[in-house]
Amino acid sequence: MRRKLVIGNWKMNGSLAGNSVLLRGIVAGHAAGKADLAVCVPAPYLAQCQAELSGTAVAWGAQDVSAYAAGAYTGEVAASMLQEFGCRHVLVGHSERRAYHHESNELVAQKALAALNAGLVPVVCVGETLEEREAGRTNVVVCAQLQAVLDVLENPALEKIVLAYEPVWAIGTGKTATPALAQEVHAALRKQVAERSAGAAAGMRILYGGSMKPENAKDLLGQSDIDGGLIGGAALKAQDFLAIAAAA
Ligand code: PEP
Repeated sequence: MRRKLVIGNWKMNGSLAGNSVLLRGIVAGHAAGKADLAVCVPAPYLAQCQAELSGTAVAWGAQDVSAYAAGAYTGEVAASMLQEFGCRHVLVGHSERRAYHHESNELVAQKALAALNAGLVPVVCVGETLEEREAGRTNVVVCAQLQAVLDVLENPALEKIVLAYEPVWAIGTGKTATPALAQEVHAALRKQVAERSAGAAAGMRILYGGSMKPENAKDLLGQSDIDGGLIGGAALKAQDFLAIAAAA
């Protein structure tokens, strides 16, 4: 039985004062034991998360990581640095990074590897654009994104990753994949992992992301291969984020 995981992706939002209110609201309202909960915040706020969330049931993480361990990579943040700030998770390959920073499948795979090497859980994001869906290429696209990661990970490491299926056309648009449509892609991803390792596939949490909100969370999270959510907009209000977690 896979335990549900709900992760908030704050994107480039927040302020020290606002974060404090949000984090306290999440901690106060989180019914521990129901689902695992985490927030992925902008890097400058990781120290604040470490101070405010240590000892609580809410984990924290970052939204990106360098593929390199250290060195002349101005502006990059190494996995070991995230680890020093107590991160449990780090998103890799979010569609906004793939689109705006031209991150390739291979680079995303190297980032996942760097995260694992530092003891972090990479949350590997995959998803198709509207154009790709309309061309009937959804599975080809997401499976290629996943395959690049499978190609660089050995089996024990593979068991530690989390996957997130996020159709690009559903992110921040208010359009959500229907539960059946999301389930179909999640099942295809799990099947692909199973071809490498049945054990890893059975244990792997595959999150759905893309305009998940309190009103649609229950139906999406009720699908057999949907093991949680990666939440953008709705993660910025404690009440909405907690309502999604409660539906998990
Ligand atoms: C995201 O940024 O990962 C996301 C799913 O955003 P939203 O929930 O706002 O669509």
